[in-house]
Amino acid sequence: MLQSHPLYGRIEGAVVIIGFGSIGRGTLPLIERHFDYDAARLVVIDPDPATHLFLSQHHHRHLQVALTPENYREVLGEVFGEDGGFCVNLSVDVGSLDVMNFCRERGVLYIDTVVEPWPGFYDSTGDNAARTNYRLRQAVRDIAAANPGGTTAVSCCGANPGMVSWFVKEALLRLAEDTGHAGATPPSTREGWAALMQGLGVKGIHVAERDTQARRQPRPRGTFVNTWSVDGFISEGLQPAELGWGTHETWFPENGHRHVSGCGAAIWLDRPGAITRVHSWCPTPGPQFGFLVTHNEAISIADYYTVGDPAAPDYRPTCHYAYHPCDDAVLSLHEMFGAGRPQETQEILDADEIVEGGDELGVLLYGHARNALWYGSRLSNAEARRLAPYQNATGLQVTSAVLAGMVWALENPRAGIVETDEMDHVRCLQVQRPYLGPVEAHYTDWTPLAHRWQQFPEDIDEADPWQFRNVLAS
Ligand code: NAD
Repeated sequence: MLQSHPLYGRIEGAVVIIGFGSIGRGTLPLIERHFDYDAARLVVIDPDPATHLFLSQHHHRHLQVALTPENYREVLGEVFGEDGGFCVNLSVDVGSLDVMNFCRERGVLYIDTVVEPWPGFYDSTGDNAARTNYRLRQAVRDIAAANPGGTTAVSCCGANPGMVSWFVKEALLRLAEDTGHAGATPPSTREGWAALMQGLGVKGIHVAERDTQARRQPRPRGTFVNTWSVDGFISEGLQPAELGWGTHETWFPENGHRHVSGCGAAIWLDRPGAITRVHSWCPTPGPQFGFLVTHNEAISIADYYTVGDPAAPDYRPTCHYAYHPCDDAVLSLHEMFGAGRPQETQEILDADEIVEGGDELGVLLYGHARNALWYGSRLSNAEARRLAPYQNATGLQVTSAVLAGMVWALENPRAGIVETDEMDHVRCLQVQRPYLGPVEAHYTDWTPLAHRWQQFPEDIDEADPWQFRNVLAS
């Protein structure tokens, strides 16, 4: 256990946690540790009866109700009343934007870890562009632009999206220092950060993750096993693959599409992300396949680091997720896509049943003078268990980012709607770092052209190893 737990401030009014799954359950003890608040005003909203049992044993208030587009204003209006508070949205199937807007109207601080839609969005057919995270994010950005300032609402502040945006900044400063770059003083504006990335010659970024957590029992056939929300992972895995599209790319995927409106920073592929493989690299495995699952940060990072006119930028990095989930989840995906339907049973690996492994989650900045730099957290499940209750390593990387985002919001209560790229990464990582295990920088000479199968020549670009054409596995 940590020796002492700093108290980061007092939350006035109600503290409302929406959703009490793997992330909600892990976030509650961090809120209890690090904030002062009126315990009688802490309420968890979740329709799951199992939640009720857990919360009543721990003497917490529970509203066993599913929020819907029809009832959310009434339910939230009753729990918050007129005196504000903090809304921590950690649910699936609850429209983030509506809840965020409601909270800002009422002067209630707000945080979530994804832009979650109401049910129906992920399953809609006919127009894959309409099922992208680009669309979900753009709706939040449009509201932010139309209503600047006001009560703080932190959008997408988990591990990724979230913490990885703070790692990008630390990695850039490390790279600047290690390459003797003149302007290594930390920039103070978005433009400054984008110019630094451009000046360092970074062509792109993988959010490169390897989850090695495993339990003793083999995965039962017909069960989707993961280390966090199975529903959340299936939903995003069945969205089209998406990536921030950089200015160094000379090739365009045959199944690629640009968007007709919005920031223009990303493209989508007409293929589910969870069966779109990319060549990537993490410290433990070295070269590995990851899945190009769509994520908000792939778009927000490409957008934030754009130099020049967004419609015809001078510079923009390519950015995407390269996710190797735990081995049981890889098998679960294989089974699910083969069967053409999700399994009927689901399991989230519990910290106490995991016998080995951890989550290695970082950013791989590539294409610069030192080739590639991975910068991130290498948290074992064993260490996560020592640090905080009710969560595995994956969970703690997420919940500690929620904690950091809450602290930042309390300290900056009138910042309007923000993404993690726009927050003070130094302060956020100061709060989060005690929960991350080793945070390390690793340079590698690996490129996507290394370790290919020579017997099967591929259509690749030998001239520039870091073209997305080489990263995308055939
Ligand atoms: P989970 O599936 O374990 O739990 C989701 C909870 O939401 C469940 O308890 C469920 O009962 C509840 N819920 C469902 N419908 C609801 C409704 N209408 N009203 C209120 N509650 C409802 O998921 P999790 O692993 O705890 O993840 C929670 C959220 O966090 C998901 O949206 C997930 O995508 C996101 N997440 C983000 C990151 C990140 O790094 N940014 C990482 C992991 C999870």
